[in-house]
Amino acid sequence: MSNKYDVIVIGSGPAGYVAAIRAAQLGLKTACVEKWRDKDGKGVNGGTCLNVGCIPSKALLDSSHKYHEAHAAFGGHGISTGDVQIDVPSMIKRKDKIVKQMNSGISGLFKANKVDSLFGSGKLLAGKKVQVIDADGNESVYEAENVILASGSVPVNIPPAPVDGEVIVDSTGALEFQEVPERLGVIGAGVIGLELGSVWGRLGSKVVCLEALDSFLAIMDQTIAKEAKKILTKQGLDIRLSCRVTGTEVVEKGGKKEVVVTYTDQDGKDATETFDKLIVCVGRRPFTDGLLSEDCGVKLDERGSIYVNDLCSTSAPGVWAIGDVVRGPMLAHKGSEEGVMVAERIAGEKTVMNYDIIPNVIYTHPEIAAVGKTEEQLKADGEEYKVGTFPFIAIGRAVAADEGEGMVKMIAHEKTDRVLGCHIVGPNAADLVQQVAIAMEFGSTAEDIGLTVFGHPTFSEAVKEAALAVNGHAIHMPNRKKR
Ligand code: FAD
Ligand code: NAD
Repeated sequence: MSNKYDVIVIGSGPAGYVAAIRAAQLGLKTACVEKWRDKDGKGVNGGTCLNVGCIPSKALLDSSHKYHEAHAAFGGHGISTGDVQIDVPSMIKRKDKIVKQMNSGISGLFKANKVDSLFGSGKLLAGKKVQVIDADGNESVYEAENVILASGSVPVNIPPAPVDGEVIVDSTGALEFQEVPERLGVIGAGVIGLELGSVWGRLGSKVVCLEALDSFLAIMDQTIAKEAKKILTKQGLDIRLSCRVTGTEVVEKGGKKEVVVTYTDQDGKDATETFDKLIVCVGRRPFTDGLLSEDCGVKLDERGSIYVNDLCSTSAPGVWAIGDVVRGPMLAHKGSEEGVMVAERIAGEKTVMNYDIIPNVIYTHPEIAAVGKTEEQLKADGEEYKVGTFPFIAIGRAVAADEGEGMVKMIAHEKTDRVLGCHIVGPNAADLVQQVAIAMEFGSTAEDIGLTVFGHPTFSEAVKEAALAVNGHAIHMPNRKKR
């Protein structure tokens, strides 16, 4: 293997592996360095997303949803299943099998595209050289015309709740429980808290989420956040806002470990709760440990992210950075698109990325999904806007599927009618919001969406009706404003 490359990517998460594949597709000699090892100690690609993030969490969300449906919903359809049981170790094994399958999928794609996979820890040295130290401590140094840093992120730790990997865990530990904890505490009612809280809640845990902020899902549109909180609370998630955790103590009781959490509640009073497991999910931080030599020329910003411009160029010429390790939302698809943009730029193309239209989804049931501006952001920006909302309870397909909870909220510019944002809590929200993302990419107005023929009966009719409602033309609901 030659030690000279056109492109070396460090990190093979959704940002890095996509960048490597696209670079190789464009004829650039490419290598991707990865230090992740699976449970058997084998080097694997895919990063957080594939190994301990998007994919395994969705595998458990799907398993737990099926259990919950069989347990609580089948009866209403006239289906009796007897005593429904959950075998947690089998559910976790299924999840591991899916991860393995996807790991080998990436290896296959690397082979097919002639990307060299280098397993080991990568470090950027001065002059676009990359040092790789493999699992046996062997060191190699490679040279590249361009280096793409895609080292991702890791969970944030907080001093009052140190993760021990047994009773107090981070998101990775919460994907590995071998039995359903009777009492589950969650610090942080954000994306991970709600998704993993839902997994274990559906399987029978009594879940308490302690959230420091006084508003729920503060970055989401608040109409949708309020509706989502109502639905999730009804499902049994005990979401407590304005709660600050001050300490934790792991104690042994009856031969079993449990954790006593002390916190100040929304009235400022001291409170305690005892849990069998505690998940700490208070955000993630960019990961650059051991990545950069002092003289490599790459600068970090004040938040510890690698500093980049709009095109993901770092402060060192020929060195780029993408994904969770740079500014912007920590989402797999955001990093992947940056990877494509950077690979194409290196190949001399003029690709740019539209950071204004990045969908964001929380995979609870129903899903919570958003694209574009929230009403709160538009208000703060002093924009003139109009809003149309439509509830799923007025959608035939949703009623037929017992999925009538939630709504679509469409926001358009008051004068131009151009769609500025769409926010959904409801069935298949992740896929519905994508329809609006495409419309927004093409500069659609609410009227354009309203004039589009939608299949019937579909959940997506709620998107059309919300778009019609923006201008007071909804059909299956009385309109508040008539136009
Ligand atoms: P990562 O996926 O973190 O990959 C970085 C890779 O770089 C890692 O494999 C790491 O080992 C490697 N690396 C780091 N340093 C070095 C080095 N020096 N040498 C060699 N290799 C190195 N996002 C979504 O969009 N949708 C979801 O549904 C979703 N669900 C999630 C669920 C959970 C539980 C978690 C934790 C995250 C979830 N995310 C989701 C976020 C998503 O996983 C991240 O945004 C995404 O993985 C970031 O991609 P990345 O390539 O930037 O970094
Ligand atoms: P998050 O930012 O979504 O939520 C963290 C929550 O913890 C926030 O509500 C915050 O106010 C709260 N918090 C912070 N410090 C606290 C404290 N000391 N006590 C109590 N609450 C506290 O972060 P996350 O849930 O850890 O997820 C990390 C990132 O991973 C997300 O931001 C997202 O980018 C990504 N992710 C995405 C998906 C998805 O796209 N479906 C799923 C999981 C994770």
